[in-house]
Amino acid sequence: MSATEIVELRPMPVPSALSRPFWDAAATGRLCIQQCSVCGRYEWTPIDACSACLTETLDWQQVSGRGSLYSYSIVHRPQSPGFEVPYIVAIVELDEGVRMLTDLIDTDGADIAIGMPVEVSFDTSAPMPLYHFRPSGGAR
Ligand SMILES: [Zn+2]
Repeated sequence: MSATEIVELRPMPVPSALSRPFWDAAATGRLCIQQCSVCGRYEWTPIDACSACLTETLDWQQVSGRGSLYSYSIVHRPQSPGFEVPYIVAIVELDEGVRMLTDLIDTDGADIAIGMPVEVSFDTSAPMPLYHFRPSGGAR
């Protein structure tokens, strides 16, 4: 199976009314997450009310796209045929304090470590704009 055929089998995100602003921003290469208008807490994943103060006024804010690797797992047996193995499932802690489930690209996994700096990267060539993180390599 070719790399193109594999990508064609990949399940794509389906935006909801709640998550639509995230995907619209991703299509333009911007990482946007919700921020509580009352207490300032950032939220990920999209949510109807702040998890700290329960206010329902959350604004979409562009964030840095920088963070650190919180956890990861290298997958050798995919759950779907739409993924070329091995790939790295990761949890990234953004500089804004929230953690995102993602994947880590531009590395074979031999050079990664918990706490290493990472940055967001968007693939807008897919049917939906997919977000990934990659080692940023520089001091922050
Ligand atoms: Zn709040």
